[in-house]
Parts: sequence; structure tokens; C-alpha cells
Amino acid sequence: MSKFLSTQFSSLNAYTPGEQLSDKKYIKLNTNESPYSPPDAVIKAITDEAKKLNLYPNPDGTQLIEKLAQNYNVNPENIIIGNGSDELLAFSFLAFFQQGVLFPDITYGFYPVYAELYNITYNKIPLQSDFTINIQEYLNKNQNIVLANPNAPTGIALKLSQIEEITKSNPNHIILIDEAYVDFGAKSAVNLTKQYENLLVIHTYSKSRSLAGARLGYAIASPPIIEDLNKMKYSFNPYNVNTLTQTMGAIAIDEESYYTEKRNEIISTREYTKNKLQEQGFIHTDSKANFLFAKHPSISGFDLYSKLKENGILIRHWNTPRISDHIRITIGTPEQMDKFIKVIQNILHQ
Ligand code: PMP
Repeated sequence: MSKFLSTQFSSLNAYTPGEQLSDKKYIKLNTNESPYSPPDAVIKAITDEAKKLNLYPNPDGTQLIEKLAQNYNVNPENIIIGNGSDELLAFSFLAFFQQGVLFPDITYGFYPVYAELYNITYNKIPLQSDFTINIQEYLNKNQNIVLANPNAPTGIALKLSQIEEITKSNPNHIILIDEAYVDFGAKSAVNLTKQYENLLVIHTYSKSRSLAGARLGYAIASPPIIEDLNKMKYSFNPYNVNTLTQTMGAIAIDEESYYTEKRNEIISTREYTKNKLQEQGFIHTDSKANFLFAKHPSISGFDLYSKLKENGILIRHWNTPRISDHIRITIGTPEQMDKFIKVIQNILHQ
């Protein structure tokens, strides 16, 4: 830390992304990326676009937003795009949560970081012992609420009716639903944004759309909410989404059949891996995401993480209360998961 850092940030705990190691070739099952490349049409589309890189990108993301609006049957005024969904989460915390925010004790690790960055008071509501959310604890709270659905790193999804109940019972506060993993088995709340002016849904291209490296997310909500988020964006970085990414995002919308096929592959590989882990004595949640959250009664989460890493496989482990025995495993290709299972078997029989 330099002596120049503003004192308010001296104790800020920044977010720790999953490891991106290059000392050897790893099977990377630690950051919930898709194991599949983007479709060819998306890659080809940017060659011509690259010639325009002398110009700034369209700050409004007009073409992409129009296509997204058509796709979701909403108006362009209902959408804003961001440099990954992380940026839209950051804008949302900044814009709406000065009076405080609630989220589960076990959820996406960036929520408390944004709260601390902006000096926002936050309260964590403990998940139940099986890691499910008791929605009664979110009703009539008179508070802003952030929920990842499916939750991370548990993968457990809420029903749409439960999201609606929470939204309806806190009409004067923002209910932010982070749907980063929704395409792998949960139901999206996007349609409810037409009915509830306090509901804000955030999506990413990083998971089911194979574009984590392009950095693209979007938020859907009532026009006044989007207007407020645009105020944050235009006060921070108007050119937040680069030209190539805007083009890739628009073309990707036409590639639904490719994405459906890959998504179904990931879901069936998830179920296959889940069964194999179960056979090895693992206990796991009912994950509806592109990852599994599991623990083994006879080996610690840290030991599993370390031994997998020695064997060239990266997974995620947190040394934090309640989940230090667990590991989170991103679903890769069937071949990668077979290798993973084989290594797990060896580790358990050592
Ligand atoms: N929300 C959740 C729950 C996540 O796990 C992630 C990925 N780390 C994000 C949002 C951010 O995704 P991105 O910024 O790549 O869109």
C-alpha cells in the first residue's frame, strides 16, 4: 500500500478472482467459464469491425440494445449494457444502495466488496443449513436486496414465484436479481420487470454465451432504473463496452441454436459429474448452474483443491466460514470431467 492511498480504502478487501496460472497447462474448472469457444459467426464478425477501432465505440450500444430488446420483448429503454455484469453490479450498488442492502451470507463474493468500496451498510442473511434461502427472511424487509439466482457458489435456484413474492413485498426498494447462471436450469425474472418497477435483473455473456473474455453484461429493468444506471455510467466511463464486444454480443443473439446445444451439453455433463462424485461419497447441492458445489466427508476442501492443482486441475476453494469443507467445480467438457473424476478417485484412494 502506498502512503498516498485514501485512508477510507486502507482496509478494503478487494475481490480475489479465480487463479489464472500459466506455469503449466491446467484443466481450468475454477472460474465458471464455458469450455466451448464462441460460435464461428461471432468470431468472424469482428474481423471487419476491427477496422473501425480508430473510432470510439457507440456509447449507447444502440444496435446491441435494440437486438437484446427484441429478443426479450422489451423496449431499448429497459436495457443498459456493461463491461461484464460486474460493472453493472458496481453501477447498481453505487446508484441505489446508499441506504443499505441485504444479501445472503454465502453468495457472490463481489457484493460485500462493492458495498465496502462505496461505504454501504450491508447485512448478510444466513442461508439455512442445507444452503437454501428461506424467503420468509426477505419478505417485507423495507430494504434493498441482492440475490444471485441460481446462487453462487451453491448453485441452488429460487422459484420465480419466490422472486416475485420478495419483489412484491418490498415495493419501495430495489430487488436486484443477478442471473449470471440462469440459463443452466433456473427461470429468468426478466418478464417480471414489466410488472414491477423495483425489479432489476442482470445477465452476463460470460457463462452460457462463451464470451467471458469479451466482457459483456446487460441489465433489464423499468426505464427510470435504467436511466439512473446510465447516469452512473456516463459519470464514470461512457465508452464502457468496446466496439468488438458490442458486435459480438449482437451476432451472438442470432446463434441461439449453437448456444442451446452447448448449454444442454453442459447440463448433461453436470448431471454425469454429479453422479460420479456421488459414487465417490461426495455430498453436493442441487446445482442448477454450470458448476457443482460439493464436499467429501473424509478430505478437507483445501486438501482437495491442493491435490487437484498438483495434478493440473484448478477448482475453487474458499477458506471462509461454513464453506471451507466445500469445493466448487466448473463443468468442463466430458473429457475434462472424466479426467477430473479419475484424479479424484486417485486422491481418495491414496
Ligand atoms: N455474478 C455472479 C454470481 C458471478 O459468479 C459472476 C462471475 N464471477 C459475475 C456476476 C460476473 O460476471 P461477468 O462480470 O463476467 O459478467
